[in-house]
Amino acid sequence: MPDTKKLQHFIGGEWVEPASGEHFESTNPATRAVNYVAARGGAADVARAVETARDTFEDPRWRDLSATRRGHLLRRLGDLIGENAEELARMETQDNGKLLREMRGQLATLPEYWYYYAGLADKIHGGFIPTSDRQVLNYTSREPLGVVGAITPWNSPLTLTTSKLAPALCAGNTVVVKPSEHTSATILRLAELAVEAGFPPGAVNVVTGYGAEAGQALVDHPALAKLSFTGSTATGSRIASSTASRFIGSTLELGGKSPNIVFEDADVANAAMGVVAGIFAAAGQTCIAGSRIFVHRSVHDELLERVAERARTIRIGDPLDDATELGPLAFEDQRDKVAGYVDLGRSEGARVLTGGRSSDGGLGGYFYEPTVLVDVDNSMRVVREEIFGPVAAVMPFDTEEEVVRLANDTEYGLAAGVWTRNLSRAHRMAARLDAGTIWVNTYRAMSPMSPRQGFKSSGVGVEHGTETIKEYTRLKSVWINTSEDPVADPFVMRG
Ligand code: NDP
Repeated sequence: MPDTKKLQHFIGGEWVEPASGEHFESTNPATRAVNYVAARGGAADVARAVETARDTFEDPRWRDLSATRRGHLLRRLGDLIGENAEELARMETQDNGKLLREMRGQLATLPEYWYYYAGLADKIHGGFIPTSDRQVLNYTSREPLGVVGAITPWNSPLTLTTSKLAPALCAGNTVVVKPSEHTSATILRLAELAVEAGFPPGAVNVVTGYGAEAGQALVDHPALAKLSFTGSTATGSRIASSTASRFIGSTLELGGKSPNIVFEDADVANAAMGVVAGIFAAAGQTCIAGSRIFVHRSVHDELLERVAERARTIRIGDPLDDATELGPLAFEDQRDKVAGYVDLGRSEGARVLTGGRSSDGGLGGYFYEPTVLVDVDNSMRVVREEIFGPVAAVMPFDTEEEVVRLANDTEYGLAAGVWTRNLSRAHRMAARLDAGTIWVNTYRAMSPMSPRQGFKSSGVGVEHGTETIKEYTRLKSVWINTSEDPVADPFVMRG
């Protein structure tokens, strides 16, 4: 980046000033200090980026590159991410307040996502279909789509953008990314590293800016072949309507209100740690947060005490400090939203067992205490709506049948946790819970190899694994008549 304090768009391998000439501030949520100003993108910038990506998609240097060599570029980018891990981790911590410790962990595994799709690039193919007609050869091929738009959020920008870019590029597409207005820096750096890795300059383009301007312009661009989005269910729904009306596909990874269920036969100490990790890691700002905790009545008080005790001792502070356990929320509105939900919970009759207050973390930032709500039930908005903060709602249950009903009584279906030492129950629950990812005796486990899909309002389409390649390719069926017989007159009925 030529000027790390004044960021530009990255289009066709070049730093490009926004057509409007305008920039906007991006601040560090731990300190409120201005990190940099980023380019305020609009329709003209998006058009330039999409046209560049389209030209690159059609350029024989990309189109005709062997799939094995394409895979090599992904592998090289994975290497470069590894080599620049510390810089990327620090940039993202300063953008969204995520713990540097956690970012280092994310950066340690991020190259593996690129390596996984690097290995897959030359294994994407169709197949031979043995139709009943022996005189006809029918085969399928999987083709890239064209220009893929990726709109990504602020909570884990590099990881969530990689979940889209790695398979899209692996399959031979080109991309235009619109990162969240709060976290532009690492995505611009990722695009720069892609060029360094040897990707053609127009393969990865980034237009920064606001969702309603740059994001909407990207969604609406007529040359887009596909839109892949991670963010709120409300925005996802608008994007789905727009793409569906133009008959282009969308992959949507949306919100969640995931249940984390502790049975009476669980190891309660382990379950308590799983509950704490599920809701307080990353300050609860993850789509998979285990925000609804159902605990069998016989172990309810013990588990609640363990979780509340750990919540009270979580060390809040500077996310760059290795001793810190909870950083700030990503920006002021997000902190206010979380605080507003806890106030709403109080007015709905919930009791705040611990937490429930904003704090400046001693740094002037947007912190919120780890919070445990009790005396809650499924009818309350704090239990039904995604808060996206460190707020757990803990509820007792009596029977397996009851907890299946309560856990599935939500518009979301992203993930669910189950804590039990009963193997039959583990399988029963895995089958009956209405969510795309089920964790038993663990929470937040993830791998590029394992597909994930949101059910119900949590999304459409698959991310990760080999399955996601279908999201970034189209299937063609080719029929070849191999017979030397004359082609029959269509109006003469065959015998
Ligand atoms: P949004 O869905 O508004 O933002 C996600 C991305 O979409 C951002 O890049 C945003 O840009 C962009 N965007 C916003 N509006 C449009 C639009 N009309 N057209 C195209 N793109 C658009 O989520 P928020 O950041 O506002 O977060 C709100 C809530 O969403 C959170 O509190 C949480 O509940 C949920 N969320 C869920 C995530 C998940 O991982 N499933 C991730 C992030 C949020 P910009 O940032 O500039 O607005």
